[in-house]
Amino acid sequence: MTAILTVAIMLGLLMIFVNADTPAEKPNEGLMAAQHEKNIETCTQNLVAIGKAIEAYKKEHGDFPDWLSDLHPKHLADANTLICPADEEDGKTTFSMNTDPKMPVSYGYQFHPEYREEKSTQREMYGDIMPLVRCRHHANEAFACLNLSFSSKIYKSSAVWELTLEDLYGSTEAAITVLEDALARHPDAPRFFQVYPQLIRLYTKVGNEPSANALIERLKAAPAKDLGHYRMLFDVLARAERYEEMLKIFKEAEQQHPDAEPILWRLAYIHKKLGNTELADIYDRKADPKYELWGKLVPGFSATALDGKPISLQDYRGKVVLLDFWGVWCGFCILEMPNLKRVYDTYKDQGFDIIGVNLADTEKELRDYIRVNDIQWRQIFSGKAWGDDPLAQQYNITGVPEQWLIDRDGTLISHRARGEKLEQLVVEALKSKSTNQ
Ligand SMILES: [Zn+2]
Repeated sequence: MTAILTVAIMLGLLMIFVNADTPAEKPNEGLMAAQHEKNIETCTQNLVAIGKAIEAYKKEHGDFPDWLSDLHPKHLADANTLICPADEEDGKTTFSMNTDPKMPVSYGYQFHPEYREEKSTQREMYGDIMPLVRCRHHANEAFACLNLSFSSKIYKSSAVWELTLEDLYGSTEAAITVLEDALARHPDAPRFFQVYPQLIRLYTKVGNEPSANALIERLKAAPAKDLGHYRMLFDVLARAERYEEMLKIFKEAEQQHPDAEPILWRLAYIHKKLGNTELADIYDRKADPKYELWGKLVPGFSATALDGKPISLQDYRGKVVLLDFWGVWCGFCILEMPNLKRVYDTYKDQGFDIIGVNLADTEKELRDYIRVNDIQWRQIFSGKAWGDDPLAQQYNITGVPEQWLIDRDGTLISHRARGEKLEQLVVEALKSKSTNQ
């Protein structure tokens, strides 16, 4: 779940940039672009200065500072250096865990006490290219972070720098050397297993199949197999399309972790790849108990919509309605939006409607998005954080997107009504008349 959420958030970040390209009104673009460039330039200079101050601090104290604010005033005379020009709140990091306790600082510092152990481990694995300080304030750019690495390199990255390891080290071979060194220093320490999938990918990329296979065998032979380990095995074997082998491993995994959703859906995937349609279907259903709800009456709800008026599922009886659980932050939700709009526009006059249930955005983010993207259907917004939303709780929504298509009589058709399937299901559902009519 966490992994899915992380990917969704990453994609969400990327999507925000994509959508930012199409606002309803465009102020002077040239002027804005010039300002963005200037901000990035100043921010880069700030990061360089912060890097030098950290070096000076280390010389004096023999260790990194706990927080960037420790650099001021001795090693960093001007406290404004700690503020990114693109930070409109003047001194707030994107993640609250990064918030400096002593003074306003815009930058995420990867070596403060909360992260220190984790980052030290990552640095051992991936080397000095690891970000030490990062800025995430440059919205509307083609990158998510502006980074200062442990080796004082300044680079732009997408949300996860790890994906571009070979770019960062200059070549695939150089990246391989760094990871091999890390493994040599810590042979088979379980916490280093996460290096394996990357190294296997890099070996495969340069055509070094024997080394890739040797590493796969080492990963397979590891004694303790938790769910994270099976996820890694799945990823490397799926990339190599070794499905028969995967089936054997995941049958064992199912015995070790009965009813574990991450094992069950992977078994469904493997069976699909092997052409075992019936078994794939069985495992799909086991992995997701909500399939049991198909064909059953969806319990009603009453709420206040974003327009301030009451809304209930009962109001939509007689229509085919899609209950769309979504968030602006969720990349997959935003990717689906053009499809939703198209299906809505095509069938809204034939009895199709959508109710958006927004989760985990702020009201401003939601209002901005529906205005800029001209979303016509009604929205429910509780203002409550993820997990506390009454509708999410009522319908047991643990991840988005989730799209419940409900027929004219209030019966659930599917809780996965998206993509190409959505239109097919809507057309089908509109054909059947309500039994109450
Ligand atoms: Zn910045």
